[in-house]
Amino acid sequence: MTKSGKNTLAVHAGRSDFSRLGVHAPPLSLSTTYPIKNLEKAIDSIDQFIDGKASAANPVYARLFNPTVARWEAAIAEIENAEASVAFSSGMAAFTAVLLASKTRGDHIVAVRPLYGGSDHLLSSGLLGTDVTWANPDHISEAIGERTALVVLETPANPSLHLVDISSIVEQAGDVPVLVDSTFATPILQNPLQYGAQYVLHSATKFLGGHGDVMAGVVATSETHAAMLRQVRIATGAVLNPFSAYLLHRGLPTLPLRVHRAQETAIELASRLVNHPFIDRVFFPGHAECDPLNIVGRQMTGPGALVSFELGNANEVAPFLRSLELVTAAVSLGSTDTLIQYPAGLTHRIVDEASREQAGISSRLLRLSVGLEDVDDLWFDLKSALATARAIQNTKRPLQWADDSNTQVAGKQPGIRRCRLKLFPKKDSHC
Ligand SMILES: *Cc1c(COP(=O)(O)O)cnc(C)c1O
Repeated sequence: MTKSGKNTLAVHAGRSDFSRLGVHAPPLSLSTTYPIKNLEKAIDSIDQFIDGKASAANPVYARLFNPTVARWEAAIAEIENAEASVAFSSGMAAFTAVLLASKTRGDHIVAVRPLYGGSDHLLSSGLLGTDVTWANPDHISEAIGERTALVVLETPANPSLHLVDISSIVEQAGDVPVLVDSTFATPILQNPLQYGAQYVLHSATKFLGGHGDVMAGVVATSETHAAMLRQVRIATGAVLNPFSAYLLHRGLPTLPLRVHRAQETAIELASRLVNHPFIDRVFFPGHAECDPLNIVGRQMTGPGALVSFELGNANEVAPFLRSLELVTAAVSLGSTDTLIQYPAGLTHRIVDEASREQAGISSRLLRLSVGLEDVDDLWFDLKSALATARAIQNTKRPLQWADDSNTQVAGKQPGIRRCRLKLFPKKDSHC
């Protein structure tokens, strides 16, 4: 069968045995244990799993193998053009597994900021016994030492949408493996292994799930690296639930459609935002100023469906989010519906303030994940909320905070938790 195009792959990956099985949808297997009819075969199977093999004659136990999960892993490997992929219970579990597996090489990690707040925290905290050196994309080789086990980057990066040239990092890393968190790009817009990365990671909770109802992570890589990740997964137990794998596989055929449609709308919204007087700066990979290295068209086939932008004033953030009616203020991204979130107060709250500022995550920055709604409806909602937020900001009354302190805590931005604005007039008509 020819499965060269991404659309064809998305529809057919992981399904090539369907006609042999006589099914038209992936079987969902929920068994946690498997009858042992032949003890020798079972013992041999255990040995295979201990060696990190993807499957064996007897699955033995669901922490070692699950056919529904394995089927989705095969599909993701196909679409990332990787030898293998290994699924986990979340994106963070996937990242943890790569860090643990890398410890056989050393305990030093070189990473490029910004990263997703949780990934930044996992590295900064040293929780897994690793040290991190944060490096500029042009200074990777200087940051690498004898103990360096891995180079970590995200492109487009969460939440600033900074783009990193994977080939350049790979070249500087030499024989140190490079992990690319490609969650924002999806396998539809970017395939990092093609540029020499050893690992591509997705928080499958985002676009791959696509409907806001699955938490999962996946790493596509070589069979050798995959074997180590499976060993870590057996040892730590961060397995993907088979029903989640079923849903992920169910959503895969529409992944290209969803990504392309949301991207189209994002392109339009990004240019409208640029021209809006209340928006200070717009970060969008599709705009030339945001892509000095010409990554889009070279490393990525399109700019993606996320747009980040800065409001004129940090005090406008809360009223703006509160005034939105169609767009949902919520963390996460890549869903059918449009989501917006406040990185400095939510996803990247755990990153210390100085590092946040350095990484371009200001107290005025918002991250919009464009969904599948009609562009004009989205624009109307954004525009109306911007007007309301500015009107509130322009009222002469002093701001009142929910904690009654009336003053901002020194050095802290008005976090949504700490000081909630009380000044929200009920918006009864769009203006
Ligand atoms: C959400 C996210 C993660 C973490 O994934 P979870 O599935 O929430 O554990 C990692 N990287 C990026 C870029 C993300 O957006």
